[in-house]
Amino acid sequence: MNKHAASAAIVLLCCTASVYAANPVDLRNQSLSVIQSMVKSPAALCADTDPSQLKQLSSGADFNGTNHIRVQQTYQGYPVWNGDAVIHVPHGGSETLMTLARSRRAAETSMNGVIYQGLKEDLANTPAYVFNDTQAQKVLSHIIGTYLAQDHAERVISNQKAELMVYLDEKNKAHWAYQVSFFAQPRSGTPAKPTFVVDAASMEIYQQWNDLKTQTEARLDDVKGGGVGGNGRIGKISYDGLAGHYPTLDFQRDSNTKICYLQNAEVKVVDSRNDKTPQFACDKPDAQHGNLYWNTLNDEANGGYSPNNDAVYSRKIVDEMYQSWFGVPILVKDGKPMQVQMFVHDPYQGQNAYWEDGKMVFGEGDSESYPVVAPSVVAHELSHGFTEQHSRLVYSGQSGGLNESFSDMADKAVEYFVYGQNNWQIDPELLKDGGRLLRWMDDPTQDCYGKKPGNNCSIGNMRDYNRNLNVHFSSGIFNRAFTLIASKWNTKKAFEVMTQANMHYWTSNTSFADAACGVISAAKDYGYDKDTILYAMKEVGVDTSRCA
Ligand SMILES: [Zn+2]
Repeated sequence: MNKHAASAAIVLLCCTASVYAANPVDLRNQSLSVIQSMVKSPAALCADTDPSQLKQLSSGADFNGTNHIRVQQTYQGYPVWNGDAVIHVPHGGSETLMTLARSRRAAETSMNGVIYQGLKEDLANTPAYVFNDTQAQKVLSHIIGTYLAQDHAERVISNQKAELMVYLDEKNKAHWAYQVSFFAQPRSGTPAKPTFVVDAASMEIYQQWNDLKTQTEARLDDVKGGGVGGNGRIGKISYDGLAGHYPTLDFQRDSNTKICYLQNAEVKVVDSRNDKTPQFACDKPDAQHGNLYWNTLNDEANGGYSPNNDAVYSRKIVDEMYQSWFGVPILVKDGKPMQVQMFVHDPYQGQNAYWEDGKMVFGEGDSESYPVVAPSVVAHELSHGFTEQHSRLVYSGQSGGLNESFSDMADKAVEYFVYGQNNWQIDPELLKDGGRLLRWMDDPTQDCYGKKPGNNCSIGNMRDYNRNLNVHFSSGIFNRAFTLIASKWNTKKAFEVMTQANMHYWTSNTSFADAACGVISAAKDYGYDKDTILYAMKEVGVDTSRCA
C-alpha cells in the first residue's frame, strides 16, 4: 500500500463510524503529519473530542547525531497496547516530540511503529466501574486465584500489580483491560512473574506470559513428572503417585522449547554415556498417565527399566527421610539444599557406586547385578556427603570403618522409612539370580564364607580388628551394633541416635570407643535408654568404660 492509498483508507475509516474496530497505522513511510495532530497541549486535550495522545518516553542522539524519540500512544491518559513508535530526526539533538509537532522538518524525519486511529467507537459505552480501584483489586484477586488453582498452590505471591490500558485484540478491536502481574515464588526452584492482559469488565484473559527475565538455564519451570523404574528383581514400577504406586517425580521444563529435563533443585541426572542430562519432548501433561509429564525416554539397561528415573526418585526419598526425621536437608550448600549430580549408566563401575564432592556415580551393574541405582545405594552415598558436612570422619582406620557403617545404616534406614520394615542385607534388591550379597549387617562375617574374619572379609567383633583392615570390612563393628540396637528399639530410633552422634559428637579421627560414647550421649539427648547402647557395644567388643 503506498502512502496515498493509506491516507485515503484512513479518511474513509474516519467517515465510517459504524466500523467497530480501530485502524492500525504503520508509521513506516508515513509523513510526520500523521502523528502531529496527536501531540496536544493539556488545554487542547480538554477541548478535543478524540482523547488519543502521544507521549514522549525517551530520546537520545546516536553516534551519527540522529535523535531517536520514543513515543507511546495513550487514550484518556492510559497506554494503548502496541501503540508505540520511534521518530528518527537526523541532526535533531535538540528536538522533542513537542517541537516536532510544530516543525517543518517533516521531510527529513522518518518513523517506525504503530498507532491506532478510531479507538473511540470501540471504547464508548464502557461502564464507569472499570476505572475504579475496587475493580482493579477484583480482577487481581480473580487472576491470582485462578493461577494458584492451576497446580501452583504452594507458591508465595508478592508484588501484585493491575494497570489499566487499552488493549487491541487480533481483529484490532479495542477493549479496556488490566495488565496484571505478580511475583510467584515456589518452595524450591525457579520463581515466575506471571503476567496477564485481562478484560477490565468481563475478566476474560486476552494474553498471558511469564515475564521473569532469566538466563537460559533458569528459565525452567518445576513440573510434576513420572515414568517407570525398577529392575528384574523388584519388578517394573510406576512413578505416578497413584494409590499403591510410587510417588511422582520432579522434573524441570522449558516452556519455550517444551522440553523436560531430568533435574530439579536437588538433583541433576547425567547420562555417563554422553555426559548429558536426559531430556524428552513434553508438549503437555500426559492424560494417560495422571496428567504428568511422562518420561518417554527408554533408558532400559542391563535389566533396569529406567535407572534415570530411579535416580530422581532415590534422591527425593532420601532427602525426605532426613527432612522428616531430622528437619534438615541431607546436603546443604550456601545454606540451601544442595543440587547433586548423579551420573547414571557408568559402563566402567559395574556393581560399584561412589560419592565424590557433590557427584555420585552409579555402575551399570554386571552379570550378577542390575544397574546400582536405588534408594538404598543413594542413601549410602549421600550419607557419605552428610558425614563430610558434619563429623568429617576420616576415611581410614576406625573413623573410616564408622564412616562406612553410618552409610550402611542410612541404606537400611531409608528402606524402613519407605516400607516400615527392613532386612539387614546390603542391597539384595539389585542382585540377579546367583549374584552374591555384598554385606550382612547383623552377621558381618558371613562374607568370609568360612575364612577367618578380617582375612579380606568383614569382622563383627573388636577381637578381629587390625589397623590395616579395609573400611568396608571394619564397618562390621558398628553395623552389627546398629542391628542390635534397632532390634531392641526400631530402625528409626537407632538411626536417630547415630545421626545425632554424627552431627554433634563424633570427631574426625574418632576411635570406635569414643564414637560409642557419642552414641550414648545422643541416646540421652533423645531420652532413650543407654543400656541398649551399652549392651550392643559389649556384644561387638567395644569398650565403653570411659564413657561418662
Ligand atoms: Zn561407602
